[in-house]
Amino acid sequence: MLPSLFLSHGSPMLILSDTPARRFLAGYGDALPRPEAIVIVSAHYETRRPAALGVAAPRMIYDFGGFDPKLREIVYPAPGLPALATRVAALLSDASLPATVDTDWGYDHGTWVPLGLMYPRADIPVVAVSVQPHENARHHFELGRALAPLRADNVLVIGSGSLTHNLGAIRTGAGRNPVEADAPAWVVAFADWMHARIGEGDIDALVDYRARAPYAAENHPTDEHLMPLYAALGAAGPTGRGERVHTSHEYGALMMDAYAFH
Ligand code: ZN
Repeated sequence: MLPSLFLSHGSPMLILSDTPARRFLAGYGDALPRPEAIVIVSAHYETRRPAALGVAAPRMIYDFGGFDPKLREIVYPAPGLPALATRVAALLSDASLPATVDTDWGYDHGTWVPLGLMYPRADIPVVAVSVQPHENARHHFELGRALAPLRADNVLVIGSGSLTHNLGAIRTGAGRNPVEADAPAWVVAFADWMHARIGEGDIDALVDYRARAPYAAENHPTDEHLMPLYAALGAAGPTGRGERVHTSHEYGALMMDAYAFH
């Protein structure tokens, strides 16, 4: 069965820059069995209640400013799959997470950056699912848990966010390639704690990360970028343990780690 995945999508420039994280994502699609469809929980798709994108041809969303204008020419033409969006909403609603099928959103860069690298042919249908920024890690774990049955139908469930995400602390590394700036100790300490708990499958500690992990609030001043990790963790099912399939950092404070949950 396919694993569920947590991917750190980094800056939108990831898709144009040659970095270890980009090279990892560009090769990772071919390393997995081919899925029938992809359900991706994106940190950039924020709604009050869970929503699944149910349009046949999702539009592109360039939800950033100040980067290379070439980014706005990128199109990710993978089809949507409204029937799967309906099923996702039903699974969530059955799990006491009342959900809607949304026809307004599209592919934000939390979706098209990692999928554009992993599946550049854009020939696998995609259903984007939202995060609820006012809800906690437990909520997103339950959201992922409700999606676990999809894996039996060869649907790849992905959470797309960032293992650390303090944009006020990113370093531009004077005189060096800014992508290669050193990671501060408080970023490494948080990433190490998460890595240890994920390896142990310690779900209770993970969902309580805000109280237990070192420098939790420093690494996630707002934590919408960590919530997709909980969706991936939940989608793994009760025995889920994570394997780190990539680690690197960019701009100092952005850990680009990726996990596969089996
Ligand atoms: Zn992001």
